[in-house]
Amino acid sequence: MSLEGKALLFVVSGPSGVGKSTLCRHILQDIPEIRLSVSCTTRSPRSGETDGKEYRFIPEKEFREKIEEHAFAEWAEVYGRLYGTPWKELEQAPGVHTDILLDIDVQGARQVMQTLKKAVTIFILPPSLETLRTRLAGRGTDSAEEQSRRFQKSQDEMKNYSEYQYTIRNETLEQAIEELRAVIVAERVKTAHLEPAQVFR
Ligand code: ADP
Ligand code: 5GP
Repeated sequence: MSLEGKALLFVVSGPSGVGKSTLCRHILQDIPEIRLSVSCTTRSPRSGETDGKEYRFIPEKEFREKIEEHAFAEWAEVYGRLYGTPWKELEQAPGVHTDILLDIDVQGARQVMQTLKKAVTIFILPPSLETLRTRLAGRGTDSAEEQSRRFQKSQDEMKNYSEYQYTIRNETLEQAIEELRAVIVAERVKTAHLEPAQVFR
């Protein structure tokens, strides 16, 4: 299966609390013609999250039905909950050239690498494990038990970095946003992404 048209697919992955959604939020504000793929999840909304914006929050039964219907481009169980990218999120209306940003875990990213060969993959690393722990706690959205569960998995997740085309260390937000922006801009001007009809217009 391949993506229709010229849309580029940017996969941002890395351990929980590393800053993926913060970075994606900034990119969506700063760069034109890019949108977020809204995943389905069985986890509960955090305060401030709106159904249909950060995620579609659905019951596990509905999620499992969608798996049966092959509605997901990828899905995974992450920290005890189900998360998946609906194929519909990757579809483009005819004539629309909007790139797509996926904020997904390492299991999902591996599936995307296999099925959507032209995906651009970016791994986000923390400045250090200690900083990752502090950021997970500082976010204030998860219980101490949930933070610890996520932190325990982070070192295993980080071992996957070498499968990705780009690696960005999220030290300061400013620097990490700039690097992510640079990746997106560079990918957009790759000759391989140019269609002959656009050269002689
Ligand atoms: P993820 O989406 O990877 O789970 P978040 O984007 O929710 O991570 O970030 C986790 C916490 O770390 C948030 O409180 C966020 O504001 C903070 N954060 C993200 N990037 C930085 C950074 N470069 N410096 C300091 N804090 C950061
Ligand atoms: P959170 O619960 O903190 O929003 O997300 C937990 C993890 O699930 C993060 O690593 C996030 O990137 C990942 N995630 C979010 N949506 C998807 C998805 O559609 N598929 C997969 N595989 N992971 C996802």
